Amino acid sequence: MNSKIRKTRFKTKYIFIFGGVVSSLGKGIAAASLGLLLKQRNHKVTIMKLDPYINVDPGTMNPYQHGEVYVTDDGAETDLDLGHYERFLAYSLGKENNTTAGQVYYTVITKEREGQFLGKTVQVIPHITDEIKRRISVFDGSYEFVIVEIGGTVGDIESLPFLEATRQFAIERGPKNAINIILTYVPYIKSAGELKTKPTQHSVKSLMEHGIVPDIIICRSETKLSKEVKSKIALFCNVDEESVIDLYDVETIYEVPLILSKSNLDQIVLKKLNIPINTLNLDEWKAFVKRIKQPLYKVKIGLVGKYVKYRDSYKSILEAFIHAGSINNTAIELELIDSEELNDSNCEKFLSNLDGILVGPGFGKRGIEGKISAIKYVRENKIPFFGICLGMQCAIIEFSRNVCGLENADSTEFNKKTKYNVIDLMEEQKKISNKGGTMRLGQYPCVVKKGTLSYEAYGQELIFERHRHRYEVNTKFQDIFEKNGMIMSGLSPDGKLIEMIELKDHPWFIGVQFHPELKSRAVTGAPLFIGFIKAALNYRKNKSQNME
Ligand code: GLN
Repeated sequence: MNSKIRKTRFKTKYIFIFGGVVSSLGKGIAAASLGLLLKQRNHKVTIMKLDPYINVDPGTMNPYQHGEVYVTDDGAETDLDLGHYERFLAYSLGKENNTTAGQVYYTVITKEREGQFLGKTVQVIPHITDEIKRRISVFDGSYEFVIVEIGGTVGDIESLPFLEATRQFAIERGPKNAINIILTYVPYIKSAGELKTKPTQHSVKSLMEHGIVPDIIICRSETKLSKEVKSKIALFCNVDEESVIDLYDVETIYEVPLILSKSNLDQIVLKKLNIPINTLNLDEWKAFVKRIKQPLYKVKIGLVGKYVKYRDSYKSILEAFIHAGSINNTAIELELIDSEELNDSNCEKFLSNLDGILVGPGFGKRGIEGKISAIKYVRENKIPFFGICLGMQCAIIEFSRNVCGLENADSTEFNKKTKYNVIDLMEEQKKISNKGGTMRLGQYPCVVKKGTLSYEAYGQELIFERHRHRYEVNTKFQDIFEKNGMIMSGLSPDGKLIEMIELKDHPWFIGVQFHPELKSRAVTGAPLFIGFIKAALNYRKNKSQNME
């Protein structure tokens, strides 16, 4: 497309979303939900996250710090909120959709070192704020709406440059071109038997101290807000009453767009931005939510990993299960199992009541032997198995040791001197000394072998999935694996990388080097998760028939 034409196609409108009172209120879900509502009214919309931390990206952070690292098609390691945006919007975002304070400062300091500021003193205002504004406007002209979620809570010291930049940005764009939404919390105080609006009033006041006046206030609460509470918030926080939207607790996050549209959030946004109101189509979404809330069947799945104490570490996997569950009309009871607790003698106790197990991604040696024990157990007992990235690598190690007789086979990530390096770095990678440079990140093609379970799941030969790993299956051992009953069901187009494996003598045993969970979207799901749940359902059915 001619970029000039693209640039002038839309007069882009901006919707800023701030957070008040406390973190973890679900600002990302609110942003994603508003995005979906606008999209379902036939608008072109994208969502951006501004993160006030100094890390350049979350790639180097432990999952316990900031939850899962979400990888986009273009290989950016981003905040997990981008996962929500993609799951709701159902299209791929990229590195421009996530800006961190680290990136902003990095750019400005690099320019300073290059002498680009021509002798000036480099300051937060205007240099840092200008760089933030530049990053906010990258989608100018390409979308009708850009929703910008500002991470953190109003009042945090580190988000100040972001608040100042958005304030300036909105003024520069003029009225009707940018609006501000704040998401706050309205707690229920048991002893008083009342919902309290004071924390919201304080947050709004704090936002206004930075020169930002909210147009809409979304209130998270346990229950619906009464008319009185809404009027009080409206009066004390300077917004009209219809612009106080309540967002009470719901069963599933996928209900949030439905609740927000009932309160007319999208229509209010459109009115404030002077855009005519198209019809809203939420039929498919409603059916999807209905199947989540009223499923016909049930399966029990175990997720074996080492970050199980913090569910956000596996965010996309958990969501992919919800999507696949809805598509299979099945409720998924998920048990998170700490791999460090597992060994060959206790797997029966932990795993025998499950209808499928997924061994998840991860880095480092801790918990590996437990994962290998779990895989041995499900392989021998023909329980459906799904291995993702490290989970697939562990399946290769287990198969090498226990089926192929390659004693102590290992990944060189865990044992550099292993005789059977069934998982290893590629030769080219070994030459690179900077660890960051050796990671395979982002979307890569994979050719799926016809006649396999993997092909059955995807229904096509050429697929694209996202990666985030350093190590690969060592093709030196491919013949041995195949002779012993493993199928290389997915390869890179040049045949040099093994991307998917499965077992001949097993109802559903699949390992993948990529992360299919990152492309699972609400309503449509991800093929392998859908196939895995189907296999778990069959397993459960057969088990109960055998018991009758
Ligand atoms: N640690 C493994 C590697 O680097 C697997 C990574 C992952 O599971 N994402 O290859």
